[in-house]
Amino acid sequence: MTDDATSGALSGLFGSEDADLPSVCSARGCGESATWELRWNNPKIHTPDRRKTWLACDTHKESLSDFLQRRGFLREVEPFPG
Ligand SMILES: [Zn+2]
Repeated sequence: MTDDATSGALSGLFGSEDADLPSVCSARGCGESATWELRWNNPKIHTPDRRKTWLACDTHKESLSDFLQRRGFLREVEPFPG
């Protein structure tokens, strides 16, 4: 389920705002298609309404959200595309 044609088609669905967002898991070395979107904010460098987005596959959803949560950065977790 990692063929380039599929991820290319998916990323084309999003507006210019997310054009640079690859539709694969953000975990290092993982090329799986993302199924979750982790929205986070670092209060030290971001304004409160700012959101950074990490994408995660089912395998890495827990480790990535745990990483953010332990730092107090995690805000929302939503299905991707959502
Ligand atoms: Zn992954």
